[in-house]
Amino acid sequence: MTIELAIIGGGPAGYSAAIYAKRAGIKPIIFEKNGGGGMALFSPNIENYAGFESISGLDLMEKMRLHANKYSEIKTYESVTKIIKNKSDFKIETNKNKYIAKAVIICTGTEYKKLNVKGETELQGKGVSYCATCDGFFFKNKKVGVVGGGNSALIEAIYLKQIGCKEVIIIHRRDQLRAEKAYEDEAKSKKVKFLLNKEVTKINGLDKIESITLFDNIKSEKTDLSIDGLFISIGESPQNNLAKELDIKLDQKGYIIVDRSQRTNIKGIYAAGDITGGLRQIITACSEGAIAALSTTEVLGKKYPYWYLL
Ligand SMILES: Cc1cc2nc3c(=O)[nH]c(=O)nc-3n(C[C@H](O)[C@H](O)[C@H](O)COP(=O)(O)OP(=O)(O)OC[C@H]3O[C@@H](n4cnc5c(N)ncnc54)[C@H](O)[C@@H]3O)c2cc1C
Repeated sequence: MTIELAIIGGGPAGYSAAIYAKRAGIKPIIFEKNGGGGMALFSPNIENYAGFESISGLDLMEKMRLHANKYSEIKTYESVTKIIKNKSDFKIETNKNKYIAKAVIICTGTEYKKLNVKGETELQGKGVSYCATCDGFFFKNKKVGVVGGGNSALIEAIYLKQIGCKEVIIIHRRDQLRAEKAYEDEAKSKKVKFLLNKEVTKINGLDKIESITLFDNIKSEKTDLSIDGLFISIGESPQNNLAKELDIKLDQKGYIIVDRSQRTNIKGIYAAGDITGGLRQIITACSEGAIAALSTTEVLGKKYPYWYLL
């Protein structure tokens, strides 16, 4: 099947790209490996997306999905596994099918970083989680740890306290948090506890998590802490496998390098949203998606004078 524009990733960037593409006379198809919505789904409360003073990530992304679906087919649970460059188009291979696309926008975002310690994989879903909004409910009246010292970790900790976890402990390997002061103050006011200079070196338990082993970076000693749940919130890394295989240029941290029109170094392939690094927020993802979509007009032969194309 030949498609005009393949958008890879059904998060804010991909949804916005689809809306702008269709309105510029392009027929897009979005490929989404999961159900759609992207990372914003994990945010219990979004308060910085213009027009919505306060909205849950789930609600905002459902609105965006419906909007995008008006303009584009969204192929959910269809993961793009490979992009092959042909002379004047691209072969797109997914877990279900093969397609030819004339232009591609990569909007694959980021994924949660792992601690890479013993017990993490074995106990995922058995007490180890990467998303408080998704799994916090199961830990009401329980004692949980949150690993990380950035905004996301603090947001998770505050949320877990709000939904009724008995004890919430932030575990951070440095002596200071990276999070904004406002989040730190809110966490403290909600009686979140802090264990600083401590690294999780092992997660213990058989059918469910029982304890974690902590290494104290100052005292150089190990202790075990009994715990019912562990939320790992140590950041995200770019989902750049497709780009790497195509020899698309990446920066030192693995984000796709784009110009002001969202072009990559390969003609016909554009990138938008968190996968390009920089300010990783919904509003910037939407903005980049819009620009990328309109930029594809230059390779799709659409006559529209986008003055900003550089
Ligand atoms: C806990 C948390 C709270 C946040 N709070 C806020 C906030 O309050 N305000 C704000 O503005 N931002 C917030 N963010 C950031 C925001 O969610 C991201 O900036 C935004 O989601 C980026 O959109 P995106 O479309 O670039 O990528 P994503 O949202 O990551 O979407 C990428 C999509 O691509 C799909 N995908 C990946 N690889 C493939 C493939 N090979 N084939 C098919 N599909 C693929 C993924 O499944 C995913 O759905 C928060 C993030 C987190 C984690």
